[in-house]
Amino acid sequence: MTPEQMRMKAMLLRAQADELDADAAKVESVGDDALERMRKSCQGKKRYATVEAAGSAAAARQKFEDHPLRIYECGFCRQFHLTKAPLDRFASFAHGKRP
Ligand SMILES: [Zn+2]
Repeated sequence: MTPEQMRMKAMLLRAQADELDADAAKVESVGDDALERMRKSCQGKKRYATVEAAGSAAAARQKFEDHPLRIYECGFCRQFHLTKAPLDRFASFAHGKRP
């Protein structure tokens, strides 16, 4: 594991610890796979600092999208992104399981 990967993993574990109230079993279940997928899903996406900013961007983009857009807080950058992924798929993703 490179220093960069270790830094990102620490960041991810901290973010998950916040969200899961430091549920140790769940934090330990975060593998490098989950980290990598979270990083990839963050990179290349537009970040919104507030949920309001994401909301107006979603409303503007929705006109050109076939699927409903959802706003989510990114566990990686702690800002907000838009996704077309259905809620159940994203929930599995967020908990580090394979979709
Ligand atoms: Zn992000």
